[in-house]
Parts: sequence; structure tokens; C-alpha cells
Amino acid sequence: MTRLRDLPSVDRLILAARADLGDAMPQALLREAARAELDAARRALRHGEAPVPQDLSLEALARGVRARIEQWLTPSLRPVINASGVIIQTNLGRAPLSAAALTAMAEVGRGYSNLEYDLERGERGSRTVHLERLLTRLSGAEAAMAVNNNAAAVYLALIALAAGREVIVSRGQAVEIGGGFRIPDVLRQSGAVLVEVGTTNRTYARDYAAAINERTALLLRVHSSNFRLIGFVHEPALAELAEVGQARGVPLLDDLGSGTLLPTTPYGLAPEPTVQESVAAGADLVTFSGDKLLGGPQAGLIVGRRDLVERLRQHPLARALRVDKTTIAGLEATLQSYLRGRATEEIPVWRMIGAPLETLQARAMAVATALSAAGLQAEVVVCQSAVGGGSLPGETLPSAGVAVAPGPAGAERCAARLRVGAPAIVARIVAERLLFDLRTVLAEDEPALVRRVIEVVAEG
Ligand SMILES: *Cc1c(COP(=O)(O)O)cnc(C)c1O
Repeated sequence: MTRLRDLPSVDRLILAARADLGDAMPQALLREAARAELDAARRALRHGEAPVPQDLSLEALARGVRARIEQWLTPSLRPVINASGVIIQTNLGRAPLSAAALTAMAEVGRGYSNLEYDLERGERGSRTVHLERLLTRLSGAEAAMAVNNNAAAVYLALIALAAGREVIVSRGQAVEIGGGFRIPDVLRQSGAVLVEVGTTNRTYARDYAAAINERTALLLRVHSSNFRLIGFVHEPALAELAEVGQARGVPLLDDLGSGTLLPTTPYGLAPEPTVQESVAAGADLVTFSGDKLLGGPQAGLIVGRRDLVERLRQHPLARALRVDKTTIAGLEATLQSYLRGRATEEIPVWRMIGAPLETLQARAMAVATALSAAGLQAEVVVCQSAVGGGSLPGETLPSAGVAVAPGPAGAERCAARLRVGAPAIVARIVAERLLFDLRTVLAEDEPALVRRVIEVVAEG
């Protein structure tokens, strides 16, 4: 039995642990790990909490030190296999990026670029030109810019156009989007005064018109995102609002939330307003996310009237909210997929939305067969995927999944093991079984998924 006084000194343990770690490993890091390891060993000896006899030999302690350092050096942010069936999952990083976007980001990131440099003239250029041409061409708007995210886009628009003045919002749209983004709070933060019109369920264009006065800076429409009002409800069409605004010289800001450049109805989904439709209907500024249905990196995109976009650009806050070169590169490549008419093939979010049921069933069958061959109880089941990202609330897509009996460990414990393993896997639990929806699993991740599920269920 090891006793307290048999434990090695910190220095001796460091010496033993350093062998495999190389000379570059900082002494301070080794010391911290060695201290933590010895503390744990002392606690185990004092309280007898360790499984006895625990190996407290020098070699075992040195292994413990190396394991601690390895854990500290493992990135906290790491890839996850999303088998939840929610395509745009904010907690799981929203849109997976296209191959073209990833290549563009790596190429621009590895060296220098013409981020703010006009190569033809050999002088300072503007970082906003890279995306503007693409965004205006795709949306039909006069001008465009990108900021850090859509929350920033809305905030910047409110500060630049409405600070100290009034913004008219329908009572049914003074909502919380999630993650603490509440329209009334954002308005207050921007220094604008919220003027709510209509009722929670019914608001008419005339309600907006009646509220306009000399202090009015903006009409604001907010996509209701993650909830849906049904029944006795009314919101005016965007074109009606635009007409009210134009008649009184008040710009209309449309926060589309997800926003989409492609129509959603061909996929059997409810219509989600497209960016082009908003522009065509007369919205003066339209804001939407880069990483929801657009399928690109995190960003907030703003398209609309040139004079208004220019005021946003000139605002001091624009600098604080601007996007970096890799984001611009990823967005540009993503938008080019739309321009080429190849978005549904090239952008993962749209590939997932458009994946034919037969394809998903065939993939589920292959996974279930591999799991069954390893002795697991697995079968193909019908399930429902969700688009997520605050778009299309309540809308689902019929999908194919694999349901796996978890064995004696139980579904909760297996799901937890899958989450913390490598690669991490997020699955659903349905009726005490693990459910893997193939729609959101990247095809190249299937072998790793199968391997991990077999390991975890076999652990028992
Ligand atoms: C998602 C969403 C936002 C916030 O967009 P981020 O890109 O996450 O900042 C704002 N408004 C609406 C309506 C949304 O759906």
C-alpha cells in the first residue's frame, strides 16, 4: 500500500512525466499538472475514495500528469456529428460550410489578401466591395454590406437610423428571438423608442400609418422566427407597409431572421419569405443571417437602399461590428454557389433540406445493417427532421433514422457517452431507444458514427 509519505515530490514527478512530452513543454504547465495529480492522490489516500489498491507508483502518476496536459491541450471547440435531425442548430454551430467556402477561407486565411487594397490602383481599397456586387445581384437591392451577425445588423440599423427617435413595431412582433435577443431590449439599447401598434394577434397597415409622426424614424418588421401565431391573426403584407412608409417618407426595415435566397415550397415546406421578395416588395433595408438558411459562415447581411446602407457604413459602430477576411471569403464562395445556380448541390444546408427520402432510407439501411452485423438491435425508422434556426417554426421534413436498443446501460447513459466521446455524437432518444436521423449526418461521418455506436453499446 502506498502511504502519503511514499508519494514522490513535485520535482521528481515532473522529471518522470517530462520524458515523453519533449523539452518544449513549459515547466509551469508540468508543475501545475504534477501538483494537481499529487493533490488527487493525497485526497484518495486520506479519504480512501480511490478503488484500493490504486496504482500510485511513480509511473502511474506520471501517466496521470501526461493525461492532464493532453486534456488541457485538446481544443475545447471540436467537431460534433449531428444526428438530431435539426438542420440549423444554433447550439451545434448552425450551418456546416460548403467545400468551396472552406477552401476560400483557408486560402485567404493562410496568407495576405486584398481585403482593403485595390490591386488595380495599388492603393487602399474597401472591405465592403467584395460582397456587395454578389449580394446586390442576388437580392436586387442597390447596396449591401456584412456585419458580425444579424443581431448586429439590426442593432446597427437602429442606432444609425433611429437613435433618439421612434420605431414602429407591430405588437405581435415585439418578440424574443432566442439567446436573449429581444426586440424591445435591442431597441432600447440603440436609443430608439419603441412604438407598439395593433394587438398581439391583429395589426393592420392603418395602425402603422396612424402612429407615424415627426419623431418616427423607421417602420420595423420582424420575422416571427421561432413561433407561430395561428387562428384569428393578421399582419399587413410587406408591400402595404412599404406603401405606408413611402407615403410619409419613413424607411421600412425588414428583419428577415433566417432569410433565404431560395424558395422553400419546392421542398414541401411552408413559404419562408425570400430576400429578393422583401426587396421587391419595397423594404428599404433587409437584414438576415449568414449562417441560417443562407448556409454560410456567421454574419449579418444588410441589403437595401444605397443612401441608408451608406449611413450604416459611416456609423462609428460599423467598425466594431465588421467581419474578418475569412468570413468574407466564406460568404463570397457561398453566394457564388447561388449565382451559379448550384446552391442546392453545393451548400450543405440545402443538400440536407433537399435530400430525397429514398436516399436517406438507403443510408439508414446501410447503417442499421452495419450495426446489426456487430450484434446490436438496430432498425430503420421513419422520423421527422426540422429546419431550425428560427426559420419555418413547426415545419418538419419526413426523414429516415436508425433506432438502436441501448442495452443494459440505458438510452440516457449511452447518449451521454456518445456526446463526450470522440467523435462527439448528438442523438435523440425516442421511446428508450437511441435515434439517429441520417438527414443531418454528413455521409463521410457515417463510418465513425457506426464505430462509436458499436463501442458505446458494447460497453454495456
Ligand atoms: C436569428 C434571428 C436574429 C439573430 O440573428 P443572428 O445571426 O443569430 O445574430 C435576429 N432576428 C431574427 C428574426 C432571427 O430569426
